[in-house]
Amino acid sequence: MQVTSSKPRVVLIGTGGTMSSLGTSSLDLMDYPEYGTKISPEEILGRVPEVKQIANVETVPFRSVGSTALTPADWFALRTRIRELADDQPDLAGIVIVHGTATLEETAFFLDLTLNVSPVIVLVGAQRPISAVGSDAAMNLVGAMRVAADPASRGRGVLVVLNDEIHAARDVVKTATLRLQTFRSADFGVLGVVDPDGVHYYRRVDRPQIPHSVFCELADDTAVPRVDVLYSYAGADETFIDAALDKGARGLVSAGLAPGIPAKAEQAALLAAVRQGIPVVQCSRSASGRVAARRYLRETGFIPGGDFSPQKARILLALGLAAGVGHEGLPELFIQC
Ligand code: GLU
Repeated sequence: MQVTSSKPRVVLIGTGGTMSSLGTSSLDLMDYPEYGTKISPEEILGRVPEVKQIANVETVPFRSVGSTALTPADWFALRTRIRELADDQPDLAGIVIVHGTATLEETAFFLDLTLNVSPVIVLVGAQRPISAVGSDAAMNLVGAMRVAADPASRGRGVLVVLNDEIHAARDVVKTATLRLQTFRSADFGVLGVVDPDGVHYYRRVDRPQIPHSVFCELADDTAVPRVDVLYSYAGADETFIDAALDKGARGLVSAGLAPGIPAKAEQAALLAAVRQGIPVVQCSRSASGRVAARRYLRETGFIPGGDFSPQKARILLALGLAAGVGHEGLPELFIQC
């Protein structure tokens, strides 16, 4: 007799990161990035067999690196792989991507902006290697699998699941180096939670252009233009702004002093960049709050970065430039996404 399972089908894509890491001992919670080894998604599944109670899981290796090594070219390659999986398997409920936490929010936001597929896309990571005592890897993976397998997760954009919390890719930021509760959506909060009794949603992201149709059309081999982030501090001057432009930056993001003002000695160089046709997005180095379209920004032509962190504003500006969005259209991206 043929046994058919009614469990949803989920693909587990491995990119590496702490969840994939074996430290040098069970107390290695710190040195594993340089001195440990990485395991495949199949091996992760072998260590967390409980996820098979939630879904029928197929594993897909993609990269096996710390997320400090990932670049925009990897983001596009990952998007291509996800599209292939979604096209080939119309009954796929979800895709869980194991990712290092260092740049997890950047990959998640890129996919959120550029991908329109029907399976639920969930990024998951861990703060403690899977080999460590008290590792969060197993429960984070169980949570991500529950979210990916749940039909209520559809149509909510790309999701990030760690520490029992479900975050929107556009909102979430890594806030702590070692604590388990590192991922926060500081201004707007979690979308929901994943508890032992199931997945519970409490809000939706209400932005008109995520994903953005223009970004979904970007070719798989798109070369993302260079956009640099300039971190302001007391006494910062034009040095790094000039260096970024010398390196060929096509756009700049100022991680300014809160509420979103570059240091005095940076301002002339940023204004000169705008006059040369280089778009400058004004963000703040603070962990939360909006940079609004106040008079100084309107008069200088700096683009208000809204509530985006500098690293996410950089992705939005770079994709806008890659898509050929003109100078008049760039500020709109920060209003619509
Ligand atoms: N958690 C980090 C990451 O983003 C560091 C781990 C590593 O480099 O293996 O992957």
